[in-house]
Amino acid sequence: MRNFRANHLWGTAFSKLFPKRSSREKEEEPKPLEPATEINELTDGFYMYSQSLLEEEAKKREAAMAHEKQMSDGSDNSFASAPMSPIERRIHPYTIDNPDWELPGALMEEIRDENGLDKVSSIMSVYSKVYGVAKIVYVAFVSFGVELDDFPMGFLFHIKRAEEYVRSVSLAELKEMVENLYYAVYARLIAEMANVELCSSFTVDIRRASAKDTIALPEPSHMYKIFLSCKEILDSPSICSELNKHTIQVCQENFIRRTANRMSSGGFSLDDVLGYRRHILTEVSNELSPFCQKWRRLSVLYRMPAAEILAVLSEKYLSIMPKSPIAEEIPVSDLPFINPDTIRPDVWERQIIQDHRQATLAKLEGRSIGDIRRENNGRRLLDFVKERKCVCPSACDCAHDCTMNVERPCVCAPRMMRIMVAKQRRGPGAQPLGVRCNGLAKAIFDGLAVISRDIGDSQMVAELGIAVQLLEEEVQKERMAGE
Ligand SMILES: [Zn+2]
Ligand SMILES: [Zn+2]
Repeated sequence: MRNFRANHLWGTAFSKLFPKRSSREKEEEPKPLEPATEINELTDGFYMYSQSLLEEEAKKREAAMAHEKQMSDGSDNSFASAPMSPIERRIHPYTIDNPDWELPGALMEEIRDENGLDKVSSIMSVYSKVYGVAKIVYVAFVSFGVELDDFPMGFLFHIKRAEEYVRSVSLAELKEMVENLYYAVYARLIAEMANVELCSSFTVDIRRASAKDTIALPEPSHMYKIFLSCKEILDSPSICSELNKHTIQVCQENFIRRTANRMSSGGFSLDDVLGYRRHILTEVSNELSPFCQKWRRLSVLYRMPAAEILAVLSEKYLSIMPKSPIAEEIPVSDLPFINPDTIRPDVWERQIIQDHRQATLAKLEGRSIGDIRRENNGRRLLDFVKERKCVCPSACDCAHDCTMNVERPCVCAPRMMRIMVAKQRRGPGAQPLGVRCNGLAKAIFDGLAVISRDIGDSQMVAELGIAVQLLEEEVQKERMAGE
C-alpha cells in the first residue's frame, strides 16, 4: 500500500511537470522523492540518505561477520572453512548522482554492485545508455540544422569526450564523462522540447501528404514526442537517481549566453517569408499563451531565453527535409542489397507467390506483412531486406502500402539493412565508434520519424528503449576490442 502511494505521488508530481508522461515507471522501483522545488533542501536529503546507507552497510557487515563466526564454530571441518571469504560489500548499481557513489573511497575499493557487476561495468551500463540517447538526439539536431554547441562544455563537446574515453578503465574518468554528458544532453533536450513545442503552435502540416515515399523529417508535434521519449529514458531510475537541477540550469544559461552572443553579431530580422518570427514573438509575449503557461512553470528545469532567441532556435523545426547529411559507416550505395535480376527466375517466382500468400494472411489478420515475416521461421529477415522487401512492424508508416503491394521496394530497407549489418558485425569494425553509431542512430531516428502517429507515448518509449540497445551493443564491442 505504501509502495502504491509512493508510486502514485511520484507519478502525480511528474505528470504535472510533463502532462504526457507515460506510466512506464509505475512498474519500476519508486525513486526516493526529492523536495520538489527547493534545491537547498537537497543537501539535507543527501546527507540523511548517505547516513542511512552507511548504517545499512554497518548492519550488513555485522550480520556477515556473525554468519561467518557461526559457520566456523558450528562445523567439524572448521579448518577447511577457516580461511574466510572476504566479506562481500555490495553497493547500489551506479546511477547519475547516486549518493552511494559519492562516498569517500567509492571509486577506489573493489566492490561489486547489487547486480553483481564490477564497478566499471556498473558505470558502463549507464554510460552506454546515455551515450545512445545522446547520439539519437545528435542526429535529430543535425537533421534539423539545430545548433550543436561545439564549445567547451557544450553538447557536442561532451559527446566527443565520451567517445574518446569510452575505453578508459578509470572509474573516476568514466564517472565524470557520463555525468557531464548526461547533463549536457538533458539540458539541451528540455530546451529543444520547448523550442519544438513552440514551433508546433505555428506549423500548418503539409508535409505528410507531400512526402509519402521519402523519409522526411517529423513534424514538430511528432518530434516533441520523440524528444519526450528520449527524456523518459534519461529519467529512468536505473539511469539517474537524483537529478541535479542546478547543473541543468547552468548548462542552459551557458547555452543561451553563447547563442545570444552569436546572434548579437548577426542581427535579428523580423521579416521571414512565412511570418513565423512575428507569430512567435506574439506567442512568447502573451503570458496566457499555452507555451508561456506551461514552460514558465517549469523554470526549475527550463531557462526561457528572450523571445528573439526563441524565434531563431525554434524555427529550425519548420524544416521538412534533412539539412545536412550524417557521416555514416557505410554509404547507402555500399549496403549489401541484391539486384533482383541476378536471382534465378524460377526462384524469384516462387518467392513472389510466397510473398502474396503472406500478404493475404496479413490482410486477413489486419496486420502488416512485416509482422507475418517476423513470426515466420522460414526465411531470414536479412534475406528479405536484401531484396528490399518489407519487414517493418505494423506501426511503421510504410506497412500499409508494403502489405497492399508486395512487389514495392520498401522505403525502410536501407535503415533496416544498416541495423542488420551492425548487429551481424562481431567486433567494432574499421570505423571509429562515433561514425558507426552515427549510422545506427540515424537508422533509429528515421524509424521513429515514420512510426505511426497513433502510437501511444509508452509504446514509443518501449520502441526507443529497444533501439538504444543497438547503440549499447556498439559501446560493448568497442570496449571488448580494447581489452
Ligand atoms: Zn515497408
Ligand atoms: Zn517501414
